[in-house]
Amino acid sequence: MAGIEEQIQDDVAAAPAAVAPKEFAVENPATGEVIAHCPDLGAEEIAAMARRGREVQPAWEALGFEGRGRILRRMQKWVIDHQEEVIAVIRSETGKTYEDALIAEISYGAAAFGFWATNAENYLADEKVKSSAVLVKGKKLMLRYKPLGLIGVIGPWNYPLTNSFGDCIPALAAGNSVILKPSEITPLTSLKLAEGLKECGIPDGVFQVATGLGATGAALVNQVDMIMFTGSTKTGKQVMKAAADTLTAVSLELGGKDPLIVLADADVDRAANTALYYGMFNGGQTCISIERVYVEAPVYDEFVSKVTEKAKALRQGAGASGQVDVGSMTFPPQVDIVEKHVEDAKAKGARVVVGGSRGEHAGGYWYEPTVLVDVDHTMLAMTEETFGPTLPIMKVRDEEEAIRLANDSPYGLGASVFGKDIKHAESVARRVDSGAVCINDALVNYTALELPMGGAKASGLGSRHGAGGIRKYCQQQAMLVTRFATKKDPHMYPYNAKMTGRLSKFFKFLYGRGSRD
Ligand code: NAD
Repeated sequence: MAGIEEQIQDDVAAAPAAVAPKEFAVENPATGEVIAHCPDLGAEEIAAMARRGREVQPAWEALGFEGRGRILRRMQKWVIDHQEEVIAVIRSETGKTYEDALIAEISYGAAAFGFWATNAENYLADEKVKSSAVLVKGKKLMLRYKPLGLIGVIGPWNYPLTNSFGDCIPALAAGNSVILKPSEITPLTSLKLAEGLKECGIPDGVFQVATGLGATGAALVNQVDMIMFTGSTKTGKQVMKAAADTLTAVSLELGGKDPLIVLADADVDRAANTALYYGMFNGGQTCISIERVYVEAPVYDEFVSKVTEKAKALRQGAGASGQVDVGSMTFPPQVDIVEKHVEDAKAKGARVVVGGSRGEHAGGYWYEPTVLVDVDHTMLAMTEETFGPTLPIMKVRDEEEAIRLANDSPYGLGASVFGKDIKHAESVARRVDSGAVCINDALVNYTALELPMGGAKASGLGSRHGAGGIRKYCQQQAMLVTRFATKKDPHMYPYNAKMTGRLSKFFKFLYGRGSRD
């Protein structure tokens, strides 16, 4: 970590030119130490950045997919070439382990630059459309995707590369300028990556980072053509309300409470390993973390004992690669939420079989990997987003009860079902109300950039990845071309009874012969 503070100071110095009167501090959550200060930009600075972004966007769009793709591909290599520096910055502001940063941030970022460089054109190429409508016979119909112009991306603190910066990549690939407002808890990764984009040749002003608190995000909503928001459901609703004033389009990736169902015929070892890994991965601070587990009675004891044994072996700390499994928490108030959920569960009869406290650390914000049993839906740990390293496990009578409880949530982001009879497990999975569902797996669906990722119910609106993940950054424009034209079409003025009669007969012939059943 030597030199990281200087590195961060340099990154901050590379922040937008506008000098903000206010600043905010960034902490290393593993130690509690302040590692940087960033400008808390106000509405005027955001308006100036928006003007700059709009000014340079037409030239960026004119570069075409090829020209933009070249810069994005360079950036893919940059991410890998600079991975140690980027991981150090990510770790310094999130407290996550080296492996969590490598597996879920570096690999995502690098893959995403290549994916969008290659696929943007396929998803956004003009599409020919065929129509059976009578009035357009002989005409050329097309659908085209035109970049909206200026996109605002607002991100959370749990994955500063993947969830904040990651959503900027398709927006840029589509030909938009982007202003990213990263979380005030983790702004340094975005500044580091802005430096990378600059080195890779992105024109000035096409990608800008607006550091600041919530008010900075609110100011951004008023300035852009579309907002891509990732964060809590509560803030997402505020963003959508504000965007309604200017009829600005929003895409919202919000909170979750993902269930994992273990059916009686499941491979219990795989189910236990997956539940524990994706419950504790990134300290449980993943929108699609396993937040609750329902296990059919016949395999419940075996599942609990396997999870317990594995959870006891987890190493928590801020050590180097390979030395620790679970890092610190990132957002100080989140530790209070986790503690509240565990204490509430205990007070209502749950048993803590592993962890259950903040542990002993010299400083920083920590909560131990924790496994809870004898839980039910009267407890916050089973009904509200915990967003920490906890795994509450509930015994269920049968799959009907598991499905009912899995759906007993305002959220619907991801879900998992484990069972050896794949057809049967799939039939259970299809009954879960969620934007994504994995069978005998969890979370890795996120890495398939061809597959849409978005929430059902209070987990969001719209999706990232796949065709929808880039088309949302564009105005869909329908085009009709009349190439071989007569001076006047038969239905045009002046109306006359003879032509009306002919048209009427024609419509009857076309549409009036349907079934009389
Ligand atoms: P948050 O809602 O508190 O903050 C998110 C961002 O919104 C921050 O940058 C914040 O400064 C900004 N903001 C705050 N008030 C604003 C306002 N009025 N207008 C505009 N912007 C405003 O969320 P968080 O605590 O940073 O992140 C954790 C949450 O994010 C969890 O609920 C998690 O599930 C969710 N999340 C969802 C996904 C997903 O893909 N669905 C991914 C990651 C995180």
